[in-house]
Amino acid sequence: MAKIFCIANQKGGVGKTTTAVNLAAGLAQLHQRVLLVDLDPQGNATMGAGINKAELTISIYEVLLGLKEVKSAIVHSGPGKFDVLPANRELAGAEVEMVELDNREKRLKVALNSVDADYDFMLIDCPPALSMLTLNGLCSAHGVIIPMQCEYYALEGLSDLVNTIKKVHAKLNPDLKIIGLLRVMFDPRMTLSQQVSAQLEQHFGDKVFKTIVPRNVRLAEAPSYGLPGVIFDPSSRGAQAYIAFGAELVERIDSF
Ligand code: ATP
Ligand code: MG
Repeated sequence: MAKIFCIANQKGGVGKTTTAVNLAAGLAQLHQRVLLVDLDPQGNATMGAGINKAELTISIYEVLLGLKEVKSAIVHSGPGKFDVLPANRELAGAEVEMVELDNREKRLKVALNSVDADYDFMLIDCPPALSMLTLNGLCSAHGVIIPMQCEYYALEGLSDLVNTIKKVHAKLNPDLKIIGLLRVMFDPRMTLSQQVSAQLEQHFGDKVFKTIVPRNVRLAEAPSYGLPGVIFDPSSRGAQAYIAFGAELVERIDSF
């Protein structure tokens, strides 16, 4: 059975997609079978995996609306060695169109069930909102990985996300839990980063992953080459951190 994780944080630009794409590539390097699910109409995970979102014939949109089988939408990211359920801006329409459908929070769950045996991990890159799409992600997953920048406002949004996760756990998906908080874009020279990081550890204990992803320009450059940072420059500090994060997840997998 595949482990299904949402990469979620309703704050924009905190490193969700970078985490989803590089964790997918990191896990693939550890010989895990990975499906990266792009649940964001921005299609950044799709592009970051080297797939042109403008040229998709079938995307996650048709799958959520029940127009196509999930298998027909999945494409392979050659360099990353993982599969992708891709998205583009069409997906924004699904948000509205799904309102009319039965079981609207569980459309993605039903779709992913049908390919469960093909993967060890499914990673869902969520959009920056607590929307119907994110709800579909949360209803499909065993757990949530929350990327966070260690800055003052990071903690503010966290309680909304934690509350949403608690509600989904109580009402819609009893499997759901917080797998952990991942510190990303970390700058150890900043006192504030150190302070927020220490606060997180104090508050969330072993829910804070040991791996810390540093701010590293190679991770930011990689998407413009259509490559995960882990493949673009494997020796960079950012790539190394995501490979280490993949190993940390695999090591702790039985505890999730
Ligand atoms: P959105 O909310 O819009 O979906 P996001 O949370 O998915 O955004 P990303 O797109 O992963 O965030 O990252 C935002 C920006 O920060 C991107 O330009 C990305 O390349 C850059 N970035 C992410 N992680 C790092 C890092 N560790 N070092 C340097 N730049 C990074
Ligand atoms: Mg994103």
